[in-house]
Amino acid sequence: MTQVFNFSAGPAVLPREVLLQVQQELTDWHGTGMCVMEMSHRGKEFTQIIHEAEADLRQLMGIPSNYKVLFLQGGAHFQFSMLPLNLARQDDTVDYVNTGHWSKIAIKEARRYANVNIAASSEDRNFSYVPDEAGWKKTANAAYLHYCSNETIGGVEFPFIPDAGNVPLICDMSSNILSKPVDVSKFGLIYAGAQKNIGPSGLTLAIVREDLLGRARPETPTMLDYKVQADGESLYNTPPTFAIYVAGLVFKWLLAQGGVRAIEQRNIEKAALLYETIDASGGFYHCPVDRANRSRMNVAFTLGDESLDDAFLEGAKARELLQLKGHRSVGGMRASIYNAMTVEGVRALTDYMREFASSKG
Ligand SMILES: *Cc1c(COP(=O)(O)O)cnc(C)c1O
Repeated sequence: MTQVFNFSAGPAVLPREVLLQVQQELTDWHGTGMCVMEMSHRGKEFTQIIHEAEADLRQLMGIPSNYKVLFLQGGAHFQFSMLPLNLARQDDTVDYVNTGHWSKIAIKEARRYANVNIAASSEDRNFSYVPDEAGWKKTANAAYLHYCSNETIGGVEFPFIPDAGNVPLICDMSSNILSKPVDVSKFGLIYAGAQKNIGPSGLTLAIVREDLLGRARPETPTMLDYKVQADGESLYNTPPTFAIYVAGLVFKWLLAQGGVRAIEQRNIEKAALLYETIDASGGFYHCPVDRANRSRMNVAFTLGDESLDDAFLEGAKARELLQLKGHRSVGGMRASIYNAMTVEGVRALTDYMREFASSKG
């Protein structure tokens, strides 16, 4: 079988060990003679799967007992609407920090439901940094404060957790959840689409502080009411059972790696390898993001000479270094190096980058 290194931004690479286990258990999960896809979501087998997944996630993230873990559907996009529908009234003000592509989409959706105050924005410099919190214009009685901890497309990551005071702090953590330790107790709600660092697409995780449940507007669709989902223990309707099963295996894999603290060390090492290669290239490669805010998960870079982009991608493909093209909205390159990307994979990429630069330089 060909060994490839997959740098996709999402759906993204999964740990090989997990895929092999899925393959092994596919037609016969734990001696049941059934595939997880074929099981009732209310049967004892799946109940065990979802309970273990939740317990393992709680352990990995140190989730306090006054938070619910919800396994939802609809991607992070559904959270963009679910959030204001549950936590804001039409005349409430909600604070948003605008640090790029995903912040903008969240803001656009929130504007349909409440008054949005842009507490801070990095649009002035093409979303290449995180605005200094000292200058944020927060609303004292905002219904919540929302930010995106890692802008997957721009490659910009928050190096701090904002201080929202008594206002519930909400975070779109889709692309850096579980990449490092996070103090969950600082948040009102954390959400994340699964397809970056958790598992298959089709699953969305929400971690909600209990006092924020039961506040949905009357017109909120039943499926979009956090309380309904919490009361139903994520089984109000048929959940994405297979995706939850795979996510559960990823959580076990992470625990076996030593948890988020250990994976963070590896993520720091991987990101350093890439950024050092970019910075040492004498301008052949360029990262537009301020050093302090460079993402450990999505390394965005351009070639000084854009006309070499296609040759770079072709050469990468020939070496089985896949899905490196930047998002269509920004161009250039992007290497996504989530938890499941190995150091070996990043070394293969940086070796290639140096060789390509010297062959053209
Ligand atoms: C991928 C991504 C999204 C969109 O996720 P969907 O599951 O496609 O809705 C939103 N926010 C961030 C930060 C992302 O990385």
